[in-house]
Amino acid sequence: MKYATEFRDGKLARKIAAAIDAECTPDRSYTFMEFCGGHTHTIARYGLEEMLPKSIRLVHGPGCPVCVLPVGRVDSAIELARDHGVILCSYGDMMRVPGSHRMSLLRAKAAGADIRMVWSTLDALKIARENPDREVAFLAIGFETTTPPTAMALKIAKAERLTNFSIFCNHVLTPAAMRAILDGESLPLQGIIGPGHVSAVIGIEPYQEFADRGQAIVVAGFEPLDLLQAILMLTRQVNEGRPRVENAYVRALPAVGNPKAREVIAETLQLRGAFEWRGLGRLPDSALRVADDYADFDAELKFQLPYRAVPDPKSCACADVVRGLKRPEQCPLFGRTCTPDEPIGSCMVSSEGGCAAHWLYGRHR
Ligand code: SF4
Repeated sequence: MKYATEFRDGKLARKIAAAIDAECTPDRSYTFMEFCGGHTHTIARYGLEEMLPKSIRLVHGPGCPVCVLPVGRVDSAIELARDHGVILCSYGDMMRVPGSHRMSLLRAKAAGADIRMVWSTLDALKIARENPDREVAFLAIGFETTTPPTAMALKIAKAERLTNFSIFCNHVLTPAAMRAILDGESLPLQGIIGPGHVSAVIGIEPYQEFADRGQAIVVAGFEPLDLLQAILMLTRQVNEGRPRVENAYVRALPAVGNPKAREVIAETLQLRGAFEWRGLGRLPDSALRVADDYADFDAELKFQLPYRAVPDPKSCACADVVRGLKRPEQCPLFGRTCTPDEPIGSCMVSSEGGCAAHWLYGRHR
């Protein structure tokens, strides 16, 4: 597979790992956060930590959209389908995320709620067209990567005057989460591996503020060589004492991102005052809602959805896992009462969750 398998070459990986080893200064330690859960999975799957010198420590970040969605928002999505009779359309990775009392979209569906897994917002629009007598809502989650399809769905729904379609918008913003990590209690970081797919939309300029705060930033792709290359570049930046934003994903990521996608987002969505994140608390200007001009398509307004803050399950350490303060296996529930089959926290469910990665690839053993 072009641009994928060639970035999994073991020989090259060992070469880059040797270059990282040579770059590390004796008696110095380097702590880098891989912001994105996709990166966490690559690191765990290919055993990259084992290839690195002991002086380099990688910590997991909050870049998993499912993991940072608070329990109260999962409850609201279930409420939409169960109490308002809405056909709720959702991406598959949300289906098993537990809300209150371990209720999930999948369990609510089994109990009779009309919840449908879709591959894209276009599927949700199609369901709305095919069911003119029913209300259809799309559960929109994700960072900037998945925001453009939501924005396009709003444009299409407005152009077609679909009166039975709405969006339950939970899109969140990467720079706000990075800011919260650096402002809050976290491990002393020297650098951040930036998310390649998010950056394909927002570009690399929004990370400059973090370089100005002394963080080395390298935006990376999702194959093992991408990550090793990013770690080498971060290590060099730290040694040079010259933190800056670099792009290690040039094969897919133009430095300016995707201005067209940003234009559509700006037209259809706008900043919320504050948004609750699992693990990071209520952060100002950290999420998007449906724009006033598209208010007819806002499920929160249409169904008067209240937001209730609900605490995480007792003993669940997701809040610390998404901030890099704990490794998944440090959670007392990991692998005991919390497994991918019977998840207690969201980090064990998502294909980008840190706990799922460590469980799946045996990093806890
Ligand atoms: Fe939460 Fe389960 Fe991970 Fe513990 S192991 S932090 S309960 S998801």
